[in-house]
Amino acid sequence: METVPEYFGKLVFDDRVMKANLSANIYSSLKKTIDEGAKLDINVANAVAEAMKNWAVSNGATHFTHWFQPLTGITAEKHDSFITPSPDGGVIMEFSGKELIRGEPDASSFPSGGLRATFEARGYTAWDPTSYAFIKDKTLCVPTAFCSYGGEALDKKTPLLRSMQALNKQALRILKLFGNDTVKYVNAMVGPEQEYFLIDKKMYQKRRDLRFTGRTLFGAKPPKGQEMDDHYFGVIKPRVAAFMQELNDELWKLGILAKTEHNEVAPSQHELAPIYNMVNVSTDHNQLTMEIMQKVASRHGLVCLLHEKPFAGVNGSGKHNNWSISTDTGLNLLSPGETPYENAQFLLFLCAVIKAVDDYQDLLRMSVATAGNDHRLGANEAPPAVVSIFLGDELTAILSAIESNTTYSGTQKTVIKLGVDVLPRFNRDTTDRNRTSPFAFTGNKFEFRMVGSSNSIACANIMLNTAVAESLKIYADRLEQAEDFETALHEMIRKTIRDHKRIIFNGNGYDDHWIKEAENRGLSNYRTTPDCIPHLLDRKNVEMLTSHKVFSLAELHSRHDIMLENYCKTVVIEANTMVDIARTEILPAIQAYAVDTANAAAAKKELNEMIPCGYEMSLVKKLSVLISRIDAALYELEDALIALGNAKDIAEESILIRDTVIAKMSELRLACDEAETVTAKKYWPLPSYGELLFGVS
Ligand code: ADP
Ligand code: MG
Repeated sequence: METVPEYFGKLVFDDRVMKANLSANIYSSLKKTIDEGAKLDINVANAVAEAMKNWAVSNGATHFTHWFQPLTGITAEKHDSFITPSPDGGVIMEFSGKELIRGEPDASSFPSGGLRATFEARGYTAWDPTSYAFIKDKTLCVPTAFCSYGGEALDKKTPLLRSMQALNKQALRILKLFGNDTVKYVNAMVGPEQEYFLIDKKMYQKRRDLRFTGRTLFGAKPPKGQEMDDHYFGVIKPRVAAFMQELNDELWKLGILAKTEHNEVAPSQHELAPIYNMVNVSTDHNQLTMEIMQKVASRHGLVCLLHEKPFAGVNGSGKHNNWSISTDTGLNLLSPGETPYENAQFLLFLCAVIKAVDDYQDLLRMSVATAGNDHRLGANEAPPAVVSIFLGDELTAILSAIESNTTYSGTQKTVIKLGVDVLPRFNRDTTDRNRTSPFAFTGNKFEFRMVGSSNSIACANIMLNTAVAESLKIYADRLEQAEDFETALHEMIRKTIRDHKRIIFNGNGYDDHWIKEAENRGLSNYRTTPDCIPHLLDRKNVEMLTSHKVFSLAELHSRHDIMLENYCKTVVIEANTMVDIARTEILPAIQAYAVDTANAAAAKKELNEMIPCGYEMSLVKKLSVLISRIDAALYELEDALIALGNAKDIAEESILIRDTVIAKMSELRLACDEAETVTAKKYWPLPSYGELLFGVS
């Protein structure tokens, strides 16, 4: 049997394979394109395509596809086979540089938010050589960007690559000011921790809510939930362990650095963390991980739920986006250094993040806004919809000492003078304990915890990279003109702390007091998707994002429309599914139980008038009241859905949904869940929460 190092990355056309299969010239031109964005020559592309195809065919591939990430949030592919007829009636396997570089999927039905007029509905895909090609299901997958003929990005990948460039450009300016000339480029590094649920496939199939919407729309609270905390880091069950093992194997073959798995807080909830990587690679890998999780689960008779809130009353799932900035020379710019100069540099980058998160709270919030994630953020769950930063007491004390030019009374009792004094070393352990913060500094990286489990991590990182690039740009503009670098630097750090300390909060983010306090501090609290998305088009946001050339104005309008459309469609599908299940499964079940109970009472009476039937009578009454309540709630929900037709645009529709449809859905659910608790098990058409949550052995 092959060992892990032998099969790790076996299905990836990575650097090792390139080196082995390309001539030295071709390899070095390609490397220049990958590392420095140099333009790719068609002869190089032809040679790379040929080598890629030969490698893919020898590994069993028959097809190729341009793999891309449209605005739906999932990935898309259209397969073409390599075969070309040969004159002798057979076939040869061909793949040209042109096919590698550019593709034209007939992709007219991907959402574009109006970016493509229908007469030119075809977008095109362009090879992204910074992300390795790989083989999946006998298909060579070439990672690509997806654009319209006008050059507008129709995907999540293109703005992500642009945001990386923006960050690189501004960070290099800062490094230069610190005398660092050897660094060639700066990258955002990301490790996303993926949470998910695993449930039994047979039970899943009996629930149309799970099948159509990915979450349960009904379900009474089980007698046992997550109260005991006995699942967290508990022993992994054999079926789950088998799933995890196969998942690791599949991911490793694709060069994905899956590192740790453990059980999460809720029953049947788990987590997978990869080792961090460049953000574009992490984004691709996370999309692949989600896809492969679902496939492998299915082979084990399981279903992997990636929804943010599959079960009411049970912890939802998120994706902790661990983010840092690193140089090609391996220096983590968010890591406190050894020398005074390194520390000043670290503090400046730290301040850039603090300023960015405060100035663009709204962009971070909306980068994770979906109907699914609204059940976590802004509901009574981690983390809140208010964006704040956890720095830990020690770093916070250092910053306030710098702000006020006073003594820092930590391990070292001196006034800290930047560029002269060595910062006290602070212990990583003291920084990693607050699990309630939406944006926590954990020693040498920030952990953005608002991302939803099914979200692509692209959007969050686009906003983060660009907002930090903007802070760095403002710093660089000022420092490049400064007569005395050190004084200007010190002043700028002090100013940032003074202006932005309101965003720093080290306490409990779940606490109601905090929400009040945040309001007093002027922090925004957008509880729902319809609340925050319109702010994408606020002037300050448009100016910032377009000035770094990460989005054009038209692209921002398209994202605005698509995010709201997704929200509306998602909730409307859920509402329709509820109506359907309640009317065709739940009501008939309660009715049957009521009738059988009434018949039982009648049978007893027939036997003997004197037999008491109080139980039956009160049960029939209770069931009948519930039937009427459910029936009324159904009509009200349907009316709310019909009224959506009056909305004049998508923003208004989303507000109507938030205020009416969702409220009516809750009423309907409440009545049905109550009915579940009084209806005999054998009548109830849906597997219960207890069965779903504890059904995998
Ligand atoms: P935990 O949060 O469970 O304590 P770690 O903090 O060690 O675990 O790592 C969580 C995730 O953060 C992993 O995916 C890891 O690879 C990633 N990570 C670690 N260091 C960095 C870094 N410098 N930049 C980005 N991600 C990182
Ligand atoms: Mg973590």
